[in-house]
Amino acid sequence: MSFFTKVRPYIIAGPCSAETREQVLETAGALAKLNIQLFRAGIWKSRTRPGSFEGNGVQALEWLQEAKQQYGLLVTVEVAETAHIEQALKYGVDVLWIGARTSVNPFQVQHLADALKGVDVPVMVKNPVNTDIDLWQGAIERFEKAGVPEVAAIHRGFSGYSAAGGFRNQPNWPIPIELKRRKPGLAMICDPSHITGNRHRIAEIAQKAIDMHFDGLMIETHPRPDEAWSDAAQQVTPQMLAEILAKLIVREEFTSDMSGQVQLEYLRQLMDNLDAEIIDLVAKRMELSEQMADVKKACNMTAFQPGRWRDMVEAISRRAETRQLPKEFIVELYEKIHHESIRKQLAVLEKKDEKIK
Ligand code: PEP
Ligand code: MN
Repeated sequence: MSFFTKVRPYIIAGPCSAETREQVLETAGALAKLNIQLFRAGIWKSRTRPGSFEGNGVQALEWLQEAKQQYGLLVTVEVAETAHIEQALKYGVDVLWIGARTSVNPFQVQHLADALKGVDVPVMVKNPVNTDIDLWQGAIERFEKAGVPEVAAIHRGFSGYSAAGGFRNQPNWPIPIELKRRKPGLAMICDPSHITGNRHRIAEIAQKAIDMHFDGLMIETHPRPDEAWSDAAQQVTPQMLAEILAKLIVREEFTSDMSGQVQLEYLRQLMDNLDAEIIDLVAKRMELSEQMADVKKACNMTAFQPGRWRDMVEAISRRAETRQLPKEFIVELYEKIHHESIRKQLAVLEKKDEKIK
């Protein structure tokens, strides 16, 4: 059991930025009563454009130290430079986190990881701003290789040109799910504040994350969110956080309910059988595809035929609709199948025919 999975869900809360000593102590006092696991506050703020509030720096570390002593909370700050690590550790910060704008940069991540060699402090790594799972995994592994004892991942959504789906940073659930498949012991935390950018949608995304087996939540909390110096629209009051947590249904991976287990096992067997059939059908489809490649080669035709692909997309979309399946999903699935089919056909077309020469 890791540092971040001792309690489920592991709750991290606190303001986007440590603004004043009073704001830090007021928030920490209210959150201590909610039994959160970790108090967060940004003190070096990496802002998108110059001129915004960039954090109170070392001065705010003193406020955090005070909050820690007064309320017995563990505290975490974002570090983006090796000097930040030095200062944070000097002031007894318990956990460090790496922001999305830093985890995107392997050189910087390596500097930070090197600075943590031999230091016993847990680190949380936010996903990079772009949807690159390997970059995220790479950042995590740099800390693991440096010997950091506990590393967690935070899904805070991915930046895009427009606020698709009404999100500030688009969630992309298959990415954290795949990362967790690749690294089974990795604790995965969701940051619904930076995903939604909107305090009214935090509860919905928090529940979704728990239903997808995330281990924890990081939720920005401020005593007077509308007056916040950064990220005002997405911060909740401690009272709102208490309500969100009270309504959260904590679901688990396993159950001790025997009849539920038996039903699930039965359904899984049916599903495994269907999956085996699907794979057999795909294999048969690929055989047909190779036969078609022989014909195309003999007739000097291209492997990919845009008109045929357009007709196929139309036909599978119509079929999907008749079975109440989202056509975007079916088309995406077929793009993969079709791509593999074309790859096989190209191999046939490009293979030198020994007899001709
Ligand atoms: C933050 O948590 O305040 C923050 C800046 O987050 P991110 O790195 O996800 O933008
Ligand atoms: Mn923020």
